[in-house]
Amino acid sequence: MRVLVVNAGSSSLKSQLIETDGKVSLMKCLAEKVGTPEAYMNVSFAPDFHKTTYNVADLTVEQCLAKLLEVLVDDPESPISGLQQIDAIGNRIVAGGEYFTKSVVIDEPAREKLTACEELAPLHNPPADACIDMMRELMPDTPQVAVFDTAFHATMPAKAYMYPLPREYYDKYRIRRYGAHGTSHRYAAQQAANLLGRPLRDLGLITCHLGNGGSITAVNHGKSIDTSMGFTPLEGLMMGTRSGSIDPAIVTYLMRREHKSFDEMDAILNKKSGILGVSGVSADMRDVLQAAAAGNELAELAIDMYVYRIQKAIGGYYAAMTRTDAVVMTAGIGENSAELRERIFAGLAHMGMILDHERNDVTGQIGVNRIISIDDSPIKICVVTTDEEMRIARETDNLVSQLG
Ligand code: ADP
Repeated sequence: MRVLVVNAGSSSLKSQLIETDGKVSLMKCLAEKVGTPEAYMNVSFAPDFHKTTYNVADLTVEQCLAKLLEVLVDDPESPISGLQQIDAIGNRIVAGGEYFTKSVVIDEPAREKLTACEELAPLHNPPADACIDMMRELMPDTPQVAVFDTAFHATMPAKAYMYPLPREYYDKYRIRRYGAHGTSHRYAAQQAANLLGRPLRDLGLITCHLGNGGSITAVNHGKSIDTSMGFTPLEGLMMGTRSGSIDPAIVTYLMRREHKSFDEMDAILNKKSGILGVSGVSADMRDVLQAAAAGNELAELAIDMYVYRIQKAIGGYYAAMTRTDAVVMTAGIGENSAELRERIFAGLAHMGMILDHERNDVTGQIGVNRIISIDDSPIKICVVTTDEEMRIARETDNLVSQLG
């Protein structure tokens, strides 16, 4: 089945055309800085994936998607020449709230529930919904599936997902923890089980998705029992530009002292904090590592804090589970930074997570799923390459095949 995967963000669009039978990608697209005059869109096709860059200045996310469809039909390198050659569309949706505990084919009732979820991820869900609507109009006969970042965490028990707030706010607004990055955590857990050669249901795993955003999940016997992101993807770890968990009193204090509006405060916590806010250098870990190596003390502090918060989260989830067989590292930083893994696990050896320095080395190993702990480490450490688009494509194929 040929599935167009659409991953719409607040200011980005990622898309791939995937042939699910051979599990191969036929087209890759990344649009960034969407909505600004600097917006651009890179599109490339198999087998060489030479990028062509398109100017998409000031277009919305769904307009970028429309532009991509034009390219798909018109470009001589494209594997398709008409939209009817796309069998299904798989949409990544950040927040599914309590409405969606698994992926669904988007029919009328599901589309209505998606609107109800928009306020849970006001930056991410509305552009994704706009893409769905645009595609429904353009390709009304092509089935669309929604795959939710939150669905994997639907198994969390109430003690993990409830906040210690007055009950009325849960009753009225469903304020609770939903988690995120679920597709990635589920995939990382399954890949780790393959590496360990044991069924997922027999294992206790701590999966660490460390990219621009970051979250850690306790996967007990294949089920998410707790995760670090909460009501929104702001809770938990320190991230590229997000603060992660802080004393909530700081928010009201700053709003009073500096007369910040709600939107300004939101921007401070989501866009100006985290690694960028502490280091003053960049949100990109590579830049910050470089600055620290050159003696920048604030960059060093940012890395120290980042590592320390991850160590504490791993320790917390160790306590939450009935057993811990492995810690799994995935996403940009988790997969690629041997230095950060070294620093994280240097503090966790006493818990039985013992890194093998040679196996941890990345030379020639980028993209290779592997175990990087020493042979008799009581708890194994795994590295797994995340492939969100492929997972969404396969999930879409599954559901659409059931439609007959
Ligand atoms: P997203 O969450 O946007 O999908 P990614 O998973 O691609 O992000 O992760 C991006 C992060 O990974 C950036 O901070 C980037 O600096 C970091 N990263 C990528 N490669 C390396 C590397 N070799 N060393 C350190 N950090 C890296």
